[in-house]
Formats: sequence, structure tokens, C-alpha cells
Amino acid sequence: MKGIGASPGVAIGQVLIKDEQQIKIVKTQIQDVQEQIDKLTQARKLAKEQIEELHKLALKNMGENEAHIFEAHMMIIDDPEFFGQVEDYIKSNKATAEYALDSVANSFIEIFKNMDNEYMRERASDIEDVTSRIIKNVLGIEIINFSSLDREVIIVAKDLTPSDTASMDKDKVIGFVTEIGGRTSHSAIMARTLEIPAVVGVEGILGNVKNNDTIVFDGEKGEVYINPQEEIVQEARDKKAEYDEYRKMLEQFKGRQSVSKDGVKVELAANIGTPDDLEGVLRNDAEGIGLYRTEFLYMDRDKFPTEEEQFSAYKEVLHGMDNKPVVIRTLDIGGDKELTYMKLPEEMNPFLGYRAIRLCLDRVDIFKTQLRALYRASIYGNLKIMFPMISSIEELRKAKAIVEEVKSELKDEGIQISETVQIGMMIEIPATAIISDMLAKEVDFFSIGTNDLIQYTTAVDRMNQQISHLYNQFHPALLRLIKMTIENGHKEGIWVGMCGEVAGDPKLVPILLGLGLDEFSMSPISILKTRNIISKISREEMKKHAQQVVMLPTAEEVKKYIEENIII
Ligand code: PEP
Ligand code: MG
Repeated sequence: MKGIGASPGVAIGQVLIKDEQQIKIVKTQIQDVQEQIDKLTQARKLAKEQIEELHKLALKNMGENEAHIFEAHMMIIDDPEFFGQVEDYIKSNKATAEYALDSVANSFIEIFKNMDNEYMRERASDIEDVTSRIIKNVLGIEIINFSSLDREVIIVAKDLTPSDTASMDKDKVIGFVTEIGGRTSHSAIMARTLEIPAVVGVEGILGNVKNNDTIVFDGEKGEVYINPQEEIVQEARDKKAEYDEYRKMLEQFKGRQSVSKDGVKVELAANIGTPDDLEGVLRNDAEGIGLYRTEFLYMDRDKFPTEEEQFSAYKEVLHGMDNKPVVIRTLDIGGDKELTYMKLPEEMNPFLGYRAIRLCLDRVDIFKTQLRALYRASIYGNLKIMFPMISSIEELRKAKAIVEEVKSELKDEGIQISETVQIGMMIEIPATAIISDMLAKEVDFFSIGTNDLIQYTTAVDRMNQQISHLYNQFHPALLRLIKMTIENGHKEGIWVGMCGEVAGDPKLVPILLGLGLDEFSMSPISILKTRNIISKISREEMKKHAQQVVMLPTAEEVKKYIEENIII
């Protein structure tokens, strides 16, 4: 089968399916009431142990914010009133434990769902989670927990949520394959961050595998084989050995500067989603953080993170990077990133809708809380703040004015802040690349977000598989917008970086060097590979190639030109 290569590496292993089927609960009359009550007690006890374990793991792997959810689950499991009602139901209806649990839970869920208070409404999903866990325990259905597996597996799922990926035990999950998603969907980005090989967008794979099947895949090419012949397994083993060898060779680039053959130095930075990603950043020797996607702080929880919670996450990252540059992007929610607790109206085109900076300029309270946390943390390192999804000068000016308000409020409160924080913006909407000459006068840096810039320039939804063949990083229009942005930035004396996936694309890195890009920010796993590429090419030569490439009319010709003329 074929999908989209999402995270490099070859994986050979046994399938574990993330099962999302609904459990069927049938109504049957029972004789032995006590037996059902005992079953309930056992299952509840087991659920409590499971939740305690998950809480510990979440604290260790993801931090306090994400662990909160399990505290709410604990409160439900300890609720005597709820379980008293379940027991009563078993007794008076001669019902099975699972049926009683399901009925009582549903009546509670109904009540909570209809409450005015948003926080209480959210409790409904917690009850649903906890009861489904206990019911699975009653029925003896194995609950898959990606953080405590007892064997190596390759996960096959429709899709993986950020909490699935964040709780994955990297020693046991040796790869994953999903039915939906593209190279820039968040499960793919997380796979690269975790350095787990992955293929996404393999349509229909769930209908073709069962647990414990052997699966082999190439996370670069996107090829997936289920129960393949020995020949293919052997070939994959050889490829895996070759890949492991290559990763070992790259180790020599640790601790070195990123310099081209003709002595031009660039910065290779990392993209992160949470402070926990720092470990990979340091291990892969990034020279800074070019994109900290703060939205993960806001996701998978039931209310907005407080100023204090944000402050401690930003401080941790700044401190961990030890004065190296850290670009923190303000909230970029919307599009494919939702907040369940912020009930936003459904939109026809969420990628073109109420999101990111648009939302922050409208909900200034949310924006200011984040900016306060950022400035309070600014004294712990080399902070740069970046706005996502700017589409006009007006928006940029409004955002900057709010920054000034926050700074003066903090100063009035006697809180110390850094005076050298650079303010930059993403260039991810074509309109801003086109007016980058004017925007460059008003910011300290640009960072080109190619993931969105491709989607908006070519009108190709980055999440839509049916048209994924049209989502093309070699499109001449994209290259021209990049060239324009870099030139305009440099004319005004500001630095220009890139934090979209193109920044780590081995075929395009030479062209970007030729176009004069100053900073390349990518998944930590790509850093050493890119440092190796840069060390083998010269900027002057790449400048000539870049000039040729931007004159080519088709993406196909761009790709062919690079393949034929730039040999690394
Ligand atoms: C981008 O659009 O290129 C980018 C880096 O941001 P995100 O992938 O988070 O939208
Ligand atoms: Mg973007």
C-alpha cells in the first residue's frame, strides 16, 4: 500500500491497532446480583490503578497541564454517589454491571451536557472516558496505552491525537501508520519530533490489517507492506541498517557550525511543540529554536492555560536553550487545530476563517495573557516573539500596539522584562510575501511558513488527501514568493528564516541557501542531515542554480533541475 512518507526511517514490526470501535452493550437479565457488584468493584479498582499510572506518565512525559485531565478522571472514579447509583441500578433492574454503568453514566452525561456552565459541560466527556474505561475492564477488553506497552509495536490507526503521540513510549512504538493526514498534519509533525518513522494517509489500511500482522514500511517513500514475503523483509532490514549507519555518520556534525563550502554561515534551528521536545533539540545540536508552536499548551485540556502555566513553559524553554535564540509563536489556533473548550462556530472554510492572530486581536484578553507570560519569561534567555497568519500591515500594527500596552503594564507593576526582544511575523499568506518590502520596515524578522504558504498560494487544502498531489513544494510560484520575501527582508536589513517543512527538504535546502535564507528551522531529526548538506555546497554556486530554478515554468522541471544539477 502507499501513503505519504511522514517521518524518515524504516520500520519492521508487529501491528497494534488503535481500536476506535464502539462497544456494544446488550441488555440481559442476570440472576446473581452480587456477582455483578463484585465485577463492578474489581473493574473500578483496576480503572483507578490505570488512571493513577496515566497521571504519573503524563506528568513525566508531558507536564502538569496535560496531566490535569487525569485528576478530573480520578474525582469521578472516587465519587460514591455515582457508584451508589450504579449498584442500585444493578439491584433494582437485575442488570449487568456494564449495562448499569452505561445507563447511569448516560443520565449524568445528559445532565452535564445541558448545563449553562461550559466547564461543567466539559465534565460530560470525562464521565464518558472513565465509564468506557470501566466497561472495557468489566468486559475484559484490553485498553491500549501507548505509554506502557510490553513489546515493540507499530501502531496502525485512523488518526492519532496529540495526546496519543505525546504519551508514546519511543522505545516500544517503533513506527506508526495512519489512514488520514498529510506531511504537514500534526500527527506527522509529531512523528518527526519524536523521531519515530511514520507514514500517513494510507487509505483503507485498517481494513487490511489485524493485530500482530507483520508490517514493514519506509517512512520516507511512504511504502507500506503487510505480511510481506521474506525477500521484502530482508530488503527492509538492509535499508534499515543503511539508515542507522547514515544516522551514525551524521553524529560527526554535532558541535559544528553550519557553514557552506565557501564559508557562509547560516543558523539551523528546531521546531518544537512543548518544552519536552527540548531533549531532542539539544541531542540534535540545534543552534536555536525557530518555531515554538504554543498552541499545544492550549490543546487537550478543558480551559485556557493561565499566565502562570504559560510563564513556566516559556521560561523552561528559554532557560533550556541557554541564551540561544528562541522564537516563540503566539497562539495559532484554528484550521486543523481546535480548542474544545472554546466553542467556536463551525465554518465552511476553517483555514480561511476565525483563527490565529485574527482571534487574538478579537479576544485581546487571551492575547494579553500570553504576551504577559512571554515578557515575564523574556529575562531568562534570548526571546523573539512571532505572530502567525498576519495578512495585512493593519493587523501587524494592532498586534504590536498590544505588545506595547503589555510591556508598559508590566513595567508599571514593577516586573522586570527584557528590552531586546525581537518582534517578527510569519510570511505564510501570499499577500504578505507580496508586500514584504513594506512589512520589513515594521518587524525585526520574517519567518516563512511554507506549510501554509503552499496551501494559500495554490489554493490546495493541506489536509485534503484527494488533492495532495497538487500540494507541491516545487511550485514555481512558491519559489518566487520565497525569493521576494528574502530580498525584501534583506533590503531593510532584517534576517529572514523559514519554519515550514520546506526548510528541511534536502532537495530545496541548496536553493534556499542560494536565495540567501539566513535561518532554517525544522524538525530536530533533520538538523544534522541539513548541516551535512550545507557543508558540501557553496553559496555562490547555489546562487546561480537558484537564479535558473526561479525561471522554470513547472514544478516538475524545478525538481528535475535540482536532481540533475545539484549532486550532494
Ligand atoms: C507553516 O504554516 O509553515 C508553519 C510553520 O506553521 P503551522 O505548520 O503550524 O501552520
Ligand atoms: Mg502555519
